[in-house]
Amino acid sequence: MDIRTKLIHCGRGDQNAEVRSVNPVLMRASTILFKNHATWQKYRELRKTERVLSYGARGTTTNFELEKLVCEIEGGHRAQLFPTGLAALAMVLLNYAETGAHFIVSDAIYGPVRTVCNLFLKKVKVDVTFCRADCTDVAEKIQENTKLILVESPGSILYEVIDLPKLCELAHSKGIPVAIDNTYSSGYLYNPLKLGADISVIAATKYLCGHSDVPMGIVVCNEKEWKNFDSLPEALGFTTSPDDCYMVLRGMRTLAIRLAQHEKNNDAVVEFLKTRKEVKTIFYPKLESHPNHDIFMRDYKGTNGMLTIELADGYTKEDAIKLTDTLKLFSIGASWGGYESLATVTVPPRTVTDWSARGPFVRFHIGLENADDLIADLKQALDGISK
Ligand SMILES: *Cc1c(COP(=O)(O)O)cnc(C)c1O
Repeated sequence: MDIRTKLIHCGRGDQNAEVRSVNPVLMRASTILFKNHATWQKYRELRKTERVLSYGARGTTTNFELEKLVCEIEGGHRAQLFPTGLAALAMVLLNYAETGAHFIVSDAIYGPVRTVCNLFLKKVKVDVTFCRADCTDVAEKIQENTKLILVESPGSILYEVIDLPKLCELAHSKGIPVAIDNTYSSGYLYNPLKLGADISVIAATKYLCGHSDVPMGIVVCNEKEWKNFDSLPEALGFTTSPDDCYMVLRGMRTLAIRLAQHEKNNDAVVEFLKTRKEVKTIFYPKLESHPNHDIFMRDYKGTNGMLTIELADGYTKEDAIKLTDTLKLFSIGASWGGYESLATVTVPPRTVTDWSARGPFVRFHIGLENADDLIADLKQALDGISK
């Protein structure tokens, strides 16, 4: 079944029920009740290996349907939900953390993950080496005690793309699991588990929810790594609200058509920006000028709404700020993946590659508005700073 069909038909509850609603039932619960002691015992046993009702914090049927749908599209064995995307990424790091271990983390990783490395991992004496955003230097950074490789592709802000099959082959030859932040593709444009990765992390906050009103993170594992991952999140009391799961399930039904429209609008905006002298560099992996264009075209179904530009020489951060302040259809805000357009002045948080001499950078999320309206808005704002 194609992912587009799965997005419509999976995660919808008991499909064989004689009478049912289109959407799965929203079940809110903290306490779950059992008919008698034997049943209670039975479900305590079952929950060790299966997704069954046993305690509200361990998820209700609404949570399970979302997990099933994400597993279906990612080709995973099991999924675990988290209150945020950051919590999901932090949990992946925590899960492999043991004193004396070494992790390799991509320079392109979602910025706040660095705080987890510097604050928590340092404290428990886990050594973290950052590798290039395109991961081409991983071979020389692997150590005897390397226990995890955590990457992101395309990278936050600059969209560096990695050769995942090659990276996984290298990592697996040394017995190291590979985890990847797949928020950009959100399980639709790219399926890392099918390319060899062991763990895929998606900030559902972005495109899965798609409407900027639910924070959530999801970890999807293959069977091998699920065994390592299984018990810790529940042991630490992580839970997600069934209402939020219901909203993300609703959002996911339109994931494919939303992403296709984001890409179409983004393509149109990129074509327009190519004509503007105020713009020096367009960071968009579909462009042949992008350094990882070939791998992107080989492994990805398409782009999303993300786009970053570097202003031309002579333009300052103040010009970039004026640009974002004078846009009318683009709001200023972090996060992305909703239906709306966003623009922020930003600096790529990289330490392996030094970008400090470059910029100013403006990151856009191209929303679902009419592309001509967005282009007209960008035109008036660029005209306003033009030198
Ligand atoms: C937003 C984002 C996250 C974190 O998601 P939150 O739900 O906001 O914590 C993780 N990875 C990437 C690539 C993101 O863009």
